[in-house]
Amino acid sequence: MGEELNPFKIAQEQLDEAAEIMGLDKQAHALLREPKRTLIVNIPVKMRDGHTETFTGFRVQYNDARGPAKGGIRFHPAETLDTVKALSAWMTWKCSLADIPFGGGKGGVICDPKKFNEVELENLSRGYMRAIADFIGPKTDVPAPDVYTTPQIMGWMLDEYTRKVGHNEFDTITGKPVEVWGSEGRMDSTALGGMFVMREAAKALKLNLKKSKIAVQGFGNAGKFAYTLSKEMFGAKVVAISDSEGGVYDPDGLDLKKLDEAKEKTGSVKNYKSKNAKQITNEKLLELDVDILIPAAIENQVRKDNADDIKAKLLLELANGPVTPDATQILFEKGVMDLPDFLVNSGGVIGSYFEWAQNISSYYWDTKRFHDELDRTITKSFKDTIAMQKGYADKGKKISERMAAYVIAVDRVAKAMKARGWY
Ligand code: NAD
Repeated sequence: MGEELNPFKIAQEQLDEAAEIMGLDKQAHALLREPKRTLIVNIPVKMRDGHTETFTGFRVQYNDARGPAKGGIRFHPAETLDTVKALSAWMTWKCSLADIPFGGGKGGVICDPKKFNEVELENLSRGYMRAIADFIGPKTDVPAPDVYTTPQIMGWMLDEYTRKVGHNEFDTITGKPVEVWGSEGRMDSTALGGMFVMREAAKALKLNLKKSKIAVQGFGNAGKFAYTLSKEMFGAKVVAISDSEGGVYDPDGLDLKKLDEAKEKTGSVKNYKSKNAKQITNEKLLELDVDILIPAAIENQVRKDNADDIKAKLLLELANGPVTPDATQILFEKGVMDLPDFLVNSGGVIGSYFEWAQNISSYYWDTKRFHDELDRTITKSFKDTIAMQKGYADKGKKISERMAAYVIAVDRVAKAMKARGWY
């Protein structure tokens, strides 16, 4: 990964730009450029043949001025400390923009979970929790799932934490299985939140979603639900989707059953078959002539070298960090509405907040209430962002949607730090 694409440098540059726009106090700016606490752990894991392998993991608590650190855990072979630091910064802005009582955090383990059997995966999950357990908890830092981690993994981690403290604390971790008081709505809340944002953005852009063509990059939790919900909620046509192996394009729209079949039988959606379907690369998927592009896989997908080729009118960043700062500028100048990750995918953490709040009170909502509250919360974030952008435009200063969201989020955290006497 080149210097330019170091995700933490990107996160710092974005903050610097927002600080400049809003005239942020220099002391607050310095505090917000670095994480509060960075933990590196080495985890011994018993493998199936009896030997012990050591895995390196991270937990970063970026800022907790507004509440406990909050953020997912990734299991990924290309995980780096700087990726985790960047993601923990973005979590800080995400929780602040959503106006929920959390700071930002993130965790990760360098490993390839596809190579593990179930016992090895459980051993690693429990080992990681043992390694970080002294530093997390419902009032300090509340983890959740992210790339290649699942509700089952959260269940094992909850159990391991429970062994340490000696009693159940269901509010320690979110994204849990419903049997241990996870929320039914949490599973698809990231994509559902993105859909509420898509609905509002379409209104603002006067896009008819029923007639819109959509391309989705990624077929995991975020991407697959974005695909199904776009169809179910709005009758939109998803013409392309991909995974790490490549993608498929069909101008007539894609069928979920056939996508699942291709994924199950061949390991990739790229092998989807229909009359007009053809394979495309992940790069070409981004450049398709569609109305809406939803990157829902990994970071740094839209960059300086391909931003000009984006044809979508609306770019919904469901993944974290899919658009680089240079590309944000190009998209902005082209007039593409590029809605930032920490707005679009905040449904996940908003859902986690509902789960945590219910665990604390031991009083549980039905799914309808969960969805209604999610809609209300994320729609407000979208409207706040557009109002902030308009406020600057009225004063003669044009700023991107990302910067408008940053200004709101950073201002709230800075004010909390000020109120606590941190500067
Ligand atoms: P996931 O592990 O369920 O799925 C990841 C998907 O990305 C898979 O389909 C995988 O094949 C694909 N992928 C991996 N490498 C790729 C590559 N090089 N090119 C194209 N596709 C590739 O993960 P997820 O939970 O869906 O997360 C996806 C993104 O959404 C991440 O950026 C994550 O941080 C973000 N996100 C997820 C949640 C959530 O609740 N799941 C919440 C907020 C943000």
